[in-house]
Order: sequence, then structure tokens, then C-alpha cells
Amino acid sequence: MATYRYRCAQDGVVDVRRPIGTAPATWPCPRCAEDMPRVFTAPMLSFAPRAQINAIDRAEATAGEPSVVTALPPRPASRRTPMAPPDPALRRLPRP
Ligand SMILES: [Zn+2]
Repeated sequence: MATYRYRCAQDGVVDVRRPIGTAPATWPCPRCAEDMPRVFTAPMLSFAPRAQINAIDRAEATAGEPSVVTALPPRPASRRTPMAPPDPALRRLPRP
């Protein structure tokens, strides 16, 4: 998603969030319904980690209508840490 800025002659600046590359040249003003021309600004980019941006975009996309799933998510690979070899001193301890 990207933020596009439009300027209404009467009501000022309005920011619109839309998928990248889908911004129309004009946008109807939410107050007076006149077509506002697009204003080109510096890119409103974020330096957040890509995974965090994707999570935010997914959350926004499902805010209005949840995504439909047909299967469980794949199970993550087992991440057991290998056990350290037993300490030889432990063998001398009394057994129950
Ligand atoms: Zn307006």
C-alpha cells in the first residue's frame, strides 16, 4: 500500500491509501465531492523490516473482510537444539 496525496482547492490536502500503481489522476473530495488533482510528493517510504510491513499490510487487508483459508498453515520445521554430551562427572552421582 502507498499513500497518495490530493489537494482540494476548498478543503486542502487529503491522503489516500491505495495499492502501489493504482492512484488515479484525480480523486473525489470527501467533503465537497469535487475532483481533486493529485499532488506529487517525496515517497512516503518506511525503513521498517519487510516482514513487519507485510504483517501490517495483511492486517489492513483483512480488516474489512477476513481472508478465507482452506488448510492449516504448514508446520514449522522442528528446531530442537542438540543436547550437550553428558558430563562424565554426572555418572558418579548415586542412582535412585
Ligand atoms: Zn473539497
